[in-house]
Amino acid sequence: MTPPKLEKSQSLFQRAQRVIPGGVNSPVRAYRGVGGTPPFIARGEGPCVIDVDGNRYVDYVGSWGPLILGHCDADVLARVAEAAASGTSFGAPTAAEVELAELICDALPAMDMLRLVSSGTEATMSALRLARGATGRPRILKFEGCYHGHADSLLVGAGSGVATLGIPGSPGVPEALAELTVQAPFNDLAAVTQAFEKWGSELACVIVEPIAGNMGCVPPEPGFLEGLRRLCDAYDALLIFDEVMTGFRVAWGGAQVRHGIEPDLTCLGKVIGGGLPAAAYGGRRELMTQMAPEGPIYQAGTLSGNPLAVAAGLETLRRLSKPEVYDALESMTQRLTQGFAERAREAGVPFTSASVGGMFGCFFHPGPVRNFADAQAADEPAFRRFFHVMLEEGVYLAPSPYEAGFVSLAHGEGELAATLAAATAAFAAAAAR
Ligand SMILES: *Cc1c(COP(=O)(O)O)cnc(C)c1O
Repeated sequence: MTPPKLEKSQSLFQRAQRVIPGGVNSPVRAYRGVGGTPPFIARGEGPCVIDVDGNRYVDYVGSWGPLILGHCDADVLARVAEAAASGTSFGAPTAAEVELAELICDALPAMDMLRLVSSGTEATMSALRLARGATGRPRILKFEGCYHGHADSLLVGAGSGVATLGIPGSPGVPEALAELTVQAPFNDLAAVTQAFEKWGSELACVIVEPIAGNMGCVPPEPGFLEGLRRLCDAYDALLIFDEVMTGFRVAWGGAQVRHGIEPDLTCLGKVIGGGLPAAAYGGRRELMTQMAPEGPIYQAGTLSGNPLAVAAGLETLRRLSKPEVYDALESMTQRLTQGFAERAREAGVPFTSASVGGMFGCFFHPGPVRNFADAQAADEPAFRRFFHVMLEEGVYLAPSPYEAGFVSLAHGEGELAATLAAATAAFAAAAAR
């Protein structure tokens, strides 16, 4: 197969770079981690995206997680169009947002109340403020390689885009604030115990991606999440599960339902907006009632609970509320990663993968990958060779080894077969130095 023609994308990318930093509105989209020109997307169709030059790709980015039903789902589009016909925003309460809040609180036993916001960043930032406000403590503990959006306190060792670009922290985050963020390696309870021994009385919360998805896909080892729950209880710190990626992606509800652990606060985003900007934070009633106007901790948003986003989220969640949906998604995702692993083995490429529900990660590393240091030890040039051949062969993966991939319910046998055929060529390229 000949490489895709990217003439229109190239010319758009040049124009874009004059008016938008790096030509993109979120850094990883610029392909700095892999090199080359990002295809500019013209439209989506179920499991595929089509770029402005007419190239069609099987899409495993899924808008970085939200599109669990695939692109242009007819029912989601219909609900959004209906909502739009009644008005796009009111800045006033609506019936649909109550329905969405009830549906989500029903799905998550640990969530009595929630507040809708517009992005995952806003959700984690607000949950952090609540944790600090409710405990009166300044410090937080996060894990190396976990990404929780770009709020100042959380941009420390943040995996994902900052890891792709090799940026350790970020200028603009005052040192006085960054100092309050304590870090530990993921899956390392001994390190968390030590951190609590040192800072315990000052720690407001532990925030964690219960299944890490911003350093590839790294599941928690048995006992890790249970240990965090125990330590937080022992030191009266709050446990925050950032399920912006895993919520309704790895199971109905999310990782906390899968693992049977109740965090004090949960952050959601991505899937709950069905491809439009909606996110949420929520948890125990006595915590959530400390938010204004019931309590003194302030948080607000002009477009929070936006009717179009709520309509897309409601329809998406309605469609996910049957157990067989996640069984199908999980089995398709497993067949994909197993197919990758077989082809890597045949090509003699050190490779390990993980998948949970509809998310997966690929590491050019013999494994096991338990934390960010392991993920960073993977063979990046091999990933880049693999990535470019996949793209040429019509498979659209995240342009970074530190991102999870996403399978949607629109992905079928045809897409799986095409992806694995491409992978045979791509692993051969990865093996060739
Ligand atoms: C994507 C993501 C965020 C940030 O969400 P945005 O909507 O991009 O602000 C936060 N936490 C996790 C775990 C994420 O995957």
